[in-house]
Amino acid sequence: MADFDPEWELATRAIRVGHERSQEGEHSEPIYMTSSFVFESAAEAAARFSGEQPGNIYARFTNPTVRAFEERLAAMEGGESCVATASGMSAILATCMGLLQHGDHLVSSRSIFGSTVVLFDKYLSRFGIQTTYVDLDDMQAWQSAIRENTRMLFVETPSNPLTALCDIRALAELAHAHACDLVVDNCFCTPALQRPLELGADIVVHSATKYIDGQGRGLGGAVVGDARRVGEEIFGVLRTAGPSMSPFNAWVFLKGLETLELRMRAHSAAAQQLADWLEGHPGVERVYYPGLSSHPQHALAMRQQKAPGGIVAFEVEGGRAAAWQVIDSTRMLSITANLGDTKTTITHPASTTHGRLSEEQRLDAGITQGLIRIAVGLEAIEDIQRDIARGLDAVG
Ligand SMILES: *Cc1c(COP(=O)(O)O)cnc(C)c1O
Repeated sequence: MADFDPEWELATRAIRVGHERSQEGEHSEPIYMTSSFVFESAAEAAARFSGEQPGNIYARFTNPTVRAFEERLAAMEGGESCVATASGMSAILATCMGLLQHGDHLVSSRSIFGSTVVLFDKYLSRFGIQTTYVDLDDMQAWQSAIRENTRMLFVETPSNPLTALCDIRALAELAHAHACDLVVDNCFCTPALQRPLELGADIVVHSATKYIDGQGRGLGGAVVGDARRVGEEIFGVLRTAGPSMSPFNAWVFLKGLETLELRMRAHSAAAQQLADWLEGHPGVERVYYPGLSSHPQHALAMRQQKAPGGIVAFEVEGGRAAAWQVIDSTRMLSITANLGDTKTTITHPASTTHGRLSEEQRLDAGITQGLIRIAVGLEAIEDIQRDIARGLDAVG
């Protein structure tokens, strides 16, 4: 990794780490749109291929723009090594392929990203890797689910959409007592709000598609951790199987990182304001937001995260009809399940992201028909509130 001052704070790392200025003296990071690299001589080519001499060979392995992104994100998460991938899902796939093998068992929190569930249940199972799901805030359940052959614990915290938290430090201790790796999907918080490696986690995975980009432009992902597991095992999967990040997307995300902390603070401040307002609204039965003192894990959230994040969920009185009315009465908010954008989005989880579950499974997970999820963007909070109030005042 490029040298940087270890005293640098996150905001400085986000702007100054990763870019090695070329002989052109450019100030902003250049985009190296090249798939391959040339050598001075046959001997140099041989030395690069054998690994005797470090340097670029082919962009499936390394590319300078992608490397700049990897070094910057590694410095922000506090990891030795980072591997950038084509999407968040390929970051999770590469992590599982790099660290697990046939016969291994994985324990995961139940309320994770939908495609991650499909990856575990439909695809990893074909290769002899079984998954058990537990509630992320139930340490006893994690402990009971661990078997002789369990090698990985996987968690997404806070959960989507109900913002339940997992105590990362406690889970890391449990993982290590059983020779397991703890993998944390840090997509919702980003290193600006939560640094799982500092709390004992082994691996952090990201969908850069969300807050790291922050403006909904491109797909990308990343894995961060130590030099052996990430720099060798997971990088080995990437360079062989090839879900590599495009240099153009790496550049978009590199610039996204520069404003990440500012944006996450702004998303959080707006979400807090919205949650406070919703909690006082007569049409709202319950609000789920870690920044509210009514949140059952408010104290853990304040300890584990720098801020509560940009996702707010709430239940309206009147079930599905009322929830849909609130959603359909908005004029500005985007009706979409995506998140991590400057644009505020509104979703009805029961009929979209959690639509394939049975009603019983849904209720088990706390996803009622009256539940609405908002991923708070960066528009003026007054305008977001007015847009939601239109439908809410009618049902309330
Ligand atoms: C979106 C998302 C993913 C998958 O990322 P893609 O970039 O869409 O492949 C994984 N985990 C979480 C928490 C996500 O929100």
